[in-house]
Amino acid sequence: MDKSLLRKNFLLKRKKKYYEINEKFFNPLFQLIKKKYKSKKINLSLYYPTFSEVNVFAIFKNKQASHFKFLLPIIEQNNSMNFHRWKIGDVLTVNKFGIPEPLRTKSIIPDILLVPLISFDKAKNRLGYGKGYYDRFLNRYLERKKNILTIGVAFYFQKYHKLPKTKTDVQLDKIITEKGIF
Ligand code: ADP
Ligand code: MG
Repeated sequence: MDKSLLRKNFLLKRKKKYYEINEKFFNPLFQLIKKKYKSKKINLSLYYPTFSEVNVFAIFKNKQASHFKFLLPIIEQNNSMNFHRWKIGDVLTVNKFGIPEPLRTKSIIPDILLVPLISFDKAKNRLGYGKGYYDRFLNRYLERKKNILTIGVAFYFQKYHKLPKTKTDVQLDKIITEKGIF
């Protein structure tokens, strides 16, 4: 199946099977972070959940979230994507896709990047919305700064056996679903 048909099918599936996750969804992520990072403050980028994406804002209900600084993406004029600090209660503005984004303060490279997706496979390939924003961001930074941990966030039902992969597709380091992190 080609990417566009897969997008259509998996978007429909996600819309039909969507449910609200709870804060326990993120426990495997916190365990992994504890193992991997020392106590320093880490920058964790979220996404503003839209179109039946897993509600990553449930992370704020988890007590362990208080150790982090959070970022959200901003789409720039030149169509690149950067990450800026945001916390609950801070002002959001709506971008050209209708997605809320934080005010432009200072662009910060996340230590951990939570990535929304339409579908994933066992090789941790990602199918996105077809605009390549995350691929371009990661291609831009992974050469220079290899320590961004990329974690796709999905429901387990978004798994597909083998996604088509093109040259610019960046594989994710991990995927987290309600069944855990792999
Ligand atoms: P998505 O990752 O959102 O599912 P695709 O992987 O299909 O979307 O990529 C969408 C478009 O973005 C493609 O035309 C692809 O060539 C382009 N693209 C992705 N990464 C890069 C990059 N690093 N440089 C230039 N174009 C890119
Ligand atoms: Mg891609």
